[in-house]
Amino acid sequence: MADKKKLFIKTYGCQMNVYDSERMAEAMGGAGYETTDSAEGADMILLNTCHIREKAAEKVYSELGRFKGLKSENPDLKIGVAGCVAQAEGEEIMRRQPLVDLVVGPQSYHRLPEMEARTRSGEKALDTDFPEEDKFEKLKSRPKAKRGPAAFLTVQEGCDKFCAFCVVPYTRGAEVSRPVDRILTEARDLVERGVREITLLGQNVNAYHGAGPKGDMTLAGLIWELDRIDGLERIRFTTSHPNDMMDDLIEAHGSCAKLMPYLHLPVQSGSDRILKRMNRSHDRDSYLRLVERIRAARPDILLSGDFIVGFPEETEADFQDTMDLIQEVEYGQAFSFKYSSRPGTPAAERALVDDAEASDRLYRLQALITRQQRAVQDRMVGREVSVLFEKPGRFDGQMLGKSEYLHAVHVADAGARVGDLARVRIVESGANSLSGVLAGA
Ligand code: SAM
Ligand code: SF4
Repeated sequence: MADKKKLFIKTYGCQMNVYDSERMAEAMGGAGYETTDSAEGADMILLNTCHIREKAAEKVYSELGRFKGLKSENPDLKIGVAGCVAQAEGEEIMRRQPLVDLVVGPQSYHRLPEMEARTRSGEKALDTDFPEEDKFEKLKSRPKAKRGPAAFLTVQEGCDKFCAFCVVPYTRGAEVSRPVDRILTEARDLVERGVREITLLGQNVNAYHGAGPKGDMTLAGLIWELDRIDGLERIRFTTSHPNDMMDDLIEAHGSCAKLMPYLHLPVQSGSDRILKRMNRSHDRDSYLRLVERIRAARPDILLSGDFIVGFPEETEADFQDTMDLIQEVEYGQAFSFKYSSRPGTPAAERALVDDAEASDRLYRLQALITRQQRAVQDRMVGREVSVLFEKPGRFDGQMLGKSEYLHAVHVADAGARVGDLARVRIVESGANSLSGVLAGA
């Protein structure tokens, strides 16, 4: 048998890109490739890119520049750009960096093997279509090899919300939900391969409305279907929009034992004036009332959020509204960003907040979030949690895993294997993780 060719994929950005990279690696597996951990010696390098902020997009070009030496050592090396930068910049990428052979958008990557074949005959290949066909149908069924216990599964793509700052509706296209039966088949396959926890992915995952046997199904309906799969122990989903947090989903958080008590619910700002200018379609009060209802259904739920500071026209008073909202909610985790102007979005036309001021706000917000995060984590000490072990730790017998609240937990002398679920008593809270002992030990 001929030696397999080597594919190096570097993934930037969100979990959807992580899932897409896995699917692209599998698709290229059918074209004689296996993945490798290093760009050196690879036959093909693929950067799966993120366009959400300017820094993320620019990183791609500096990374590409680094491959010049590899390409001159091995002229047969093929270099591809996938993901949202590919979608947004298309041919421009090959113009700016001529060593790129292939550019493929997130909706066309099922065509990757055929595009790679074209590059082997000396062509440049570009595909940033939003094709009629469903890429998931065109992709071959997933291989059956054993895999780690936690997996992502994309159930919904694209977004119709058009927040004023965001490129997603342009790079990922309109909101589309995958049919229920396809998702269940993929979930069962993953469970057969050793998966015990599935995180359902979508840019707007709680707007899910995939075709089911009796018409469209909501995300809660899909979760209850997944709940029936033996061997699947944990279900998560991300990312949710506050306006799509329907009653049946809130109720599922109270009653579905496999649905983990963790919810990523981005608010972006605590100022009504800014939320309006962001076109977020929820306000501060509706968000806070929503949080109350979710906590009434599942009191121990850990909430996580996204925040943008320095959005055009944001004043210190607007920023203080965001800080007050954070105080009121108490987040267990959060992602915060300085506003980055993205070409083609409505907010890109507006006057920027002074950069030093925006940086200072980000610093203050992150300090508050870090304190909250740490306080929530510290309160876990003395509690018993369930941990799904994902990998061995650095020390003999040590295992690392995640609690139901998504805290990283390490356990010494766990006497456990990857994929085991165990009850663990938390004994210590560190900078970014908890440590515990097996309950009853
Ligand atoms: N769909 C999700 C939602 O509505 O919250 C988020 C998707 S986006 C990939 C992830 C996060 O990136 C957003 O929640 C937002 O905080 C941040 N983000 C998006 N565009 C941004 C921009 N232009 N500048 C800074 N942060 C941005
Ligand atoms: Fe972007 Fe807003 Fe859609 Fe989230 S809801 S992906 S922030 S446009």
